Amino acid sequence: MVNLESEITYLPGVGPKRAKVLGDELGIKTFADLLMTFPYKYIDRSKVYRIDEVNTEMPYVQILGRILSFETFEMGPRKERVVAHFTDGTHLMDLTWFNGGKYARTHYKIGEQYIVFGKPTAFNGRINVVHPDIDPSSELQVSGMGMQPYYTLTEKMKKAGFTSRSLERLIKNLLALLDNKLPETLPDSMTQRLNLASRDEALRNIHFPESAKTLEKARVRLKFEELFYVQLNIVRYASDNRRKYRGYIFQSIGKTFNGFYYHRLPFPLTGAQKRVIREIWNDMKSGRQMNRLLQGDVGSGKTLVALMSMLIAIDNGYQACIMAPTEILAEQHLKTIADFLGDMPVRVELLTGIVKGKKRNSILEDLAVGKIDILVGTHAVIEDNVRFARLGMAVVDEQHRFGVAQRAKLWQKSTNPPHVLVMTATPIPRTLAMTLYGDLDVSVIDELPPGRKPVMTQHVYDAQLPQLYESIRRQIRMGRQAYIVFPLIEESEHIDLKNLEDGYETLRQAFPEFKMSKVHGKIKPKEKEEEMQRFASGETQILVATTVIEVGVNVPNASVMVILDAQRFGLSQLHQLRGRVGRGADQSYCILVTGHQLSADTRKRIDIMCDTNDGFRIAEADLKLRGPGDLEGTQQSGMAFDLKIADIARDGQLVQMARDEAQRIIDTDPTMQHPDNAIFVRRLYELRKTNVNWSAIS
Ligand code: ADP
Ligand code: MG
Repeated sequence: MVNLESEITYLPGVGPKRAKVLGDELGIKTFADLLMTFPYKYIDRSKVYRIDEVNTEMPYVQILGRILSFETFEMGPRKERVVAHFTDGTHLMDLTWFNGGKYARTHYKIGEQYIVFGKPTAFNGRINVVHPDIDPSSELQVSGMGMQPYYTLTEKMKKAGFTSRSLERLIKNLLALLDNKLPETLPDSMTQRLNLASRDEALRNIHFPESAKTLEKARVRLKFEELFYVQLNIVRYASDNRRKYRGYIFQSIGKTFNGFYYHRLPFPLTGAQKRVIREIWNDMKSGRQMNRLLQGDVGSGKTLVALMSMLIAIDNGYQACIMAPTEILAEQHLKTIADFLGDMPVRVELLTGIVKGKKRNSILEDLAVGKIDILVGTHAVIEDNVRFARLGMAVVDEQHRFGVAQRAKLWQKSTNPPHVLVMTATPIPRTLAMTLYGDLDVSVIDELPPGRKPVMTQHVYDAQLPQLYESIRRQIRMGRQAYIVFPLIEESEHIDLKNLEDGYETLRQAFPEFKMSKVHGKIKPKEKEEEMQRFASGETQILVATTVIEVGVNVPNASVMVILDAQRFGLSQLHQLRGRVGRGADQSYCILVTGHQLSADTRKRIDIMCDTNDGFRIAEADLKLRGPGDLEGTQQSGMAFDLKIADIARDGQLVQMARDEAQRIIDTDPTMQHPDNAIFVRRLYELRKTNVNWSAIS
């Protein structure tokens, strides 16, 4: 029997040199790794089309024919388009290269027979395939006439002589060696009940599908398996924690909460806020530690929910803390909370990196003896020397900047871990939340406070800036204020800062009659705070800024958000920025400014922004456009995961199914002692050995 853990160098046809390339480029170190390197596409080699039957509705076609001639078109400096005129005897078509045309021109021979594959489009009244896959017609024989797998190659692999075809041969060799069945990783009872292919069937068919149907079944099986083990790991982790840690029991709601609710609350809670506070309260009295994710669009009133939850902790003799990702936000929270509480006998203090010396020491002392009720701060709050007398509740604002490890640190702040409420204004699609924050229960505020008018979003080009300035002027004359945001990313910080400075000058000349504030990441926190304060108090009418205002700033009188170079912002950033306006009773506007040249992706982002204010729709679209690995925060969250075949955005149903199965197993056998569940324990153990990313959540 072949050992799948054998080093790849021992596979016939590999050897040390190629083994090194496979390892370095694709991480293929063992037979098993090779087997788990899946094709990115297949070509149905069973059908060769005639050019005269091809139409642009077809997703892709395969045509056998010859190149008649090449033609090269200049497209500006050092850019050319190369076209090959191609025929199969029935008709003419074109093959086009916008990149790599030179290679095509020298590599493919006129008159030789090729098999061409690609998406048919129409150009100049002729069928055209852009960047086709081309193989010598002899390659048709390799995999017979079925579906031919295509494997990803890196440039280095190509240089080392690898082709998709050579990988295909290696895998074919390997599968031939493994004539015995590949070991199962799911129990038969499960595969049968869910009608899943066996692992052996699935792995053979994912590489060499017998038909489109068996391929589909193979994919479903492999995706499910992948998602299932992620979910099993998460559900088991959450259940272990639940068993290990008891939660503080908050018996009652008392005079702090009630005093606030009946005497201080300036407006009625929205239905959603009430529901969420009830969910939190249920957790707090349940005896188990709360770990709850609170999702709510910008402006939905999460801070108030957090505050009222903290008041419950105070009523029960505990302290609470709230952590924000930046100093500005922490200070803003302090102010919001202090304003809400007014003269109530609740002591609130701020602890950030800039609180130093005597002040800091006295805060630390008072905290340790329980004289402070609510500590508002940044990461400074979780430093080791910060000790609470009785920390009962911790709120983490803007989850994506706080990693799992940091959350875990909170737990060491008191005998039992405090109840934890994680708030995020970046709506996370359900299937992603289930995977990224699968150990958290989820509450959603899906209702904005009454009287808010949806922000109107428009896209304008640079050339229309003068008209835009006029509309800003009109708004300001009506007593409103405006944000003007410049992009700033670290990689091009110098240029971006210069753009901001230049832009600021231009704006000053454009608006000589108004006062402006300017903030960005490079100015001192104190100065930043003063500028923000000047804007918040209405002393300045325009705030020129980078994304430092991205989260949390609350100036209800601001009704215009102008985002320059909007193409450089991601969807969730754009949505966050837009959330800065529309907080008062006035109609607000968000203007996305770009140049004329837009990529297809930018166009989509802008369209979605103009189309909807619904953060969840935007998050879904974002997930589809970028893929989960790319989403802001998945890296820092420490739960980054590397899915080979499943796609959280597209395979939502399978994520749910995997979750349900995992939950059922853990519900009935929390420690997986039952012999039927041994297979899961074994597999989790194997995966832990091979997949570094999982270590973060276990
Ligand atoms: P989030 O943190 O969810 O973005 P905030 O908590 O900052 O939202 O709330 C945005 C604004 O709405 C604040 O000015 C807050 O005082 C106000 N607000 C919160 N809840 C309500 C409510 N139920 N009715 C009216 N205004 C509310
Ligand atoms: Mg907020």
